[in-house]
Amino acid sequence: MTHNISEYKDVWVFIEHDSGKIEHVSLELLTKGRQLAKDIGCKICAFTVGDNVEIFSERLAEYGAEKFYFIESPVLKEYRTEPYRDSLLYLIEKYKPEIILIGATTLGRDIAAPLATKLDTGLTADTTALDIDFESDAKNLLMTRPTFGGNLMAVIYCPDNRPQMSTVRPGVFQATKNPINNIEKIREEFELLEDKIPKKILEKVKSDSDKVNLSFYDVIVAGGRGIGKKENIKLLEDLARTLGGTWAVSRKVVQMGWAPYSRQVGQTGQTVHPKIYIAAGISGAIQHLAGMKSSEIIIAINKDPQAPIFDIATYGIVGDAIEILPRLTQFFGNK
Ligand code: FAD
Repeated sequence: MTHNISEYKDVWVFIEHDSGKIEHVSLELLTKGRQLAKDIGCKICAFTVGDNVEIFSERLAEYGAEKFYFIESPVLKEYRTEPYRDSLLYLIEKYKPEIILIGATTLGRDIAAPLATKLDTGLTADTTALDIDFESDAKNLLMTRPTFGGNLMAVIYCPDNRPQMSTVRPGVFQATKNPINNIEKIREEFELLEDKIPKKILEKVKSDSDKVNLSFYDVIVAGGRGIGKKENIKLLEDLARTLGGTWAVSRKVVQMGWAPYSRQVGQTGQTVHPKIYIAAGISGAIQHLAGMKSSEIIIAINKDPQAPIFDIATYGIVGDAIEILPRLTQFFGNK
């Protein structure tokens, strides 16, 4: 079924939150959504549901949201697919946004698909770039994502149906403030009955895994299989600490069991764009580059002068990472 697309307007960003805090990706999407809204000449709006979400309006205004649509209910205190889906659907069907952006987090991926199905529209998952097609009359949204194992980038658009929906990888866009004075708050009522919800939350247990958001750091010292063994992760840690940054790894290192997945950069790991990215013993496979190639300065250390990482590096050091990393730590430690 095709929709009457002229009925749809505005860019909506789903505000994901946990324990009273907005997830950073939602602020990144508000920033990007602001630019898209400007491009197509409409408003940038935030929307969410929860038990106590009106409190977010001040922070959303700091990031330029012109309107904030929300529903509050005690039933929405903890995330569960069904009540979230039904209440979000109510807002979307009532106000008909043209574009919906959702962070490609665990929660975002879980909620986006049932929403798209119910709305009878398309969903592009795990997008890494968003642009407007100025050539098309409808100014369609062009959503880019890696495909065929990251060897190709696919540009996807949704010409006949609305809303145009995308989940977007955390860390792809930067969050920048653009305060506005009067955010318009639109509270809606939607009846939810606890008895009708099939899932019950019995207990919430925090995972004790090493969860780190690499995109918060200006300096990342990353190691690949070339670091040789698990014990050499310490060389990355030492240099990262000296430079005031953090450490990361390639997927090979995770597969070898030398580091947890939470430290992986790349297509199936995190996307980062620090000021300085040091890649030590990393060959530069396209799937790794997908997560770090927009770093401002890339310093590659590799003993193979033909390694593909040198093609995108700002500075290259041909040599043994195991010798060079401690020397850099010592050099900068003495500064
Ligand atoms: P290698 O490719 O083995 O390279 C090791 C490098 O270290 C070589 O260049 C070598 O010359 C150098 N070296 C060796 N010894 C030393 C030394 N002593 N000093 C200096 N240099 C040395 N990869 C990711 O990283 N992130 C992802 O998210 C990701 N997702 C993927 C998704 C899919 C669907 C697929 C198919 C693959 C994915 N990969 C990902 C894997 C990717 O294709 C590569 O296999 C991986 O990035 C290679 O890791 P590496 O550079 O550490 O190891």
